[in-house]
Amino acid sequence: EPTIVWFRRDLRLADQAALLAAAEAGPVIPVYVLDDETPRHCRMGGASRWWLHHSLASLDAALCKLGSRLILRRGKVHEELAAVRRETGARVVHALHHYEPWWRNAEKAVAKGMQLVLHDGNYLAPAGAVKTGSGAPYKIFTPFWQALKERMPPAHPAQAPEQLVAPEHWPTSDTLDDWKLLPTAPDWAGGFRKEWTPGEAGAHKRLEAFAARAARYEQCRNLPSIEGTSRLSPHLHFGEISPATVWQKVADAGGSVDVFLSELGWRDYAQNVIVQFPDYGSKNAREAYDRLQWRDDPEGLRAWQQGRTGYPIVDAGMRELWHTGWMHNRVRMIAASFLVKHLLIDWREGERWFWDTLVDADYGSNAVNWQWTAGTGIDSNMFVRIMAPLTQSAKFDAAGYIRKWVPELRHLSDAEVHDPTFPPPGYVRKIVPHAQGRARALAAHEAMKAHG
Ligand code: FAD
Repeated sequence: EPTIVWFRRDLRLADQAALLAAAEAGPVIPVYVLDDETPRHCRMGGASRWWLHHSLASLDAALCKLGSRLILRRGKVHEELAAVRRETGARVVHALHHYEPWWRNAEKAVAKGMQLVLHDGNYLAPAGAVKTGSGAPYKIFTPFWQALKERMPPAHPAQAPEQLVAPEHWPTSDTLDDWKLLPTAPDWAGGFRKEWTPGEAGAHKRLEAFAARAARYEQCRNLPSIEGTSRLSPHLHFGEISPATVWQKVADAGGSVDVFLSELGWRDYAQNVIVQFPDYGSKNAREAYDRLQWRDDPEGLRAWQQGRTGYPIVDAGMRELWHTGWMHNRVRMIAASFLVKHLLIDWREGERWFWDTLVDADYGSNAVNWQWTAGTGIDSNMFVRIMAPLTQSAKFDAAGYIRKWVPELRHLSDAEVHDPTFPPPGYVRKIVPHAQGRARALAAHEAMKAHG
């Protein structure tokens, strides 16, 4: 009797414990279910769907080389897996652990009708497994990371199976094009195609390229004008490469790579948070902030989304995001802070926009970073520490980055481009002066405290 491998955000053959376990048991049916109902408002966004299309195509091609194929089904996961069971007689499902609250619910529904075996491997450690001396999960990053490091390095990554046995009967499958995951008119994905190669092979290539410069990460990671970071985030989000593989390659590269490894730690930390607080993507962790009077400002929100705030570093970031589905981390922090503080718009509006436009959109990482920026999280920057976007821009040498993404400012000197004295024609004026935005945010924070 064949065994099902239920693929989710783990679209790889190497170091994929669910696939290996199924392959050892006999014939394998690899299945991906596009389930837009179970996640409800967290249904995958546009940029992620673009990535998913290409990643699934790549996984199917890789499976074909092993004598197998990827079965595509659309609908509620437990119903689709039950249908595959009826069509093939498969009763056992292997999958990797995921911690989004909707996936954990879906797992319960699947386990009612079939035997579901869950494996680890999409994180450095299972979420919730790293505990304090008194047995509680960590809330704050630094002690979490100290404790996680004690368990490192991760187990040596496993090889992909050399061959897969096909079942006697394949269940029915959609074709990928049926799902219409790619944009049609307008086709906004031109910049995505230039920047990315979704799939396991593309992920390994990125890792190779990064390993060669990993020793310079600590110095370069905050400079958006150069390629100082790994750009592995969408590959890691879709599980095209395992974090253990990334860890090992970078640690072997030598040099001071601790800062990079701790960023992988943040990725684990975010899962550790959503396991404790499944609503983290929609609820302030600090309840006092439920009383903060956010502004209702659809025009300001649109200007931010479209990169027309008059703050060059913010506009450059928001345009990079729109064109490539990715934004440099330092600029994410600046742009997010600008929305929440200078525009005083609810962080959840920003979280939603990132969810739709990032190729690495990840429920845990997105929520944790937005709440960190907004000051509403369990481990957070303080709300009253307001980032000065123009100072940040100069400090992190963003001139080249701004010229690339805001062509209206291309001809300005390094000194002028961060904050043009006379904005050239075609470039907007600041939608709110820094001092005014800052004072307004601090006043709202005071009012929140006064009503507490
Ligand atoms: P590198 O610097 O090379 O880091 C290596 C890996 O570590 C990344 O690929 C990522 O998997 C992980 N990582 C690094 N920084 C963080 C972090 N702060 N939190 C969690 N994991 C991290 N990251 C996402 O993967 N998905 C998101 O939806 C997301 N939303 C964000 C929203 C805001 C407002 C901010 C400020 C940050 C967000 N991040 C998110 C974190 C971070 O910006 C990206 O992970 C990083 O920019 C990815 O680029 P990289 O692969 O070159 O990172």
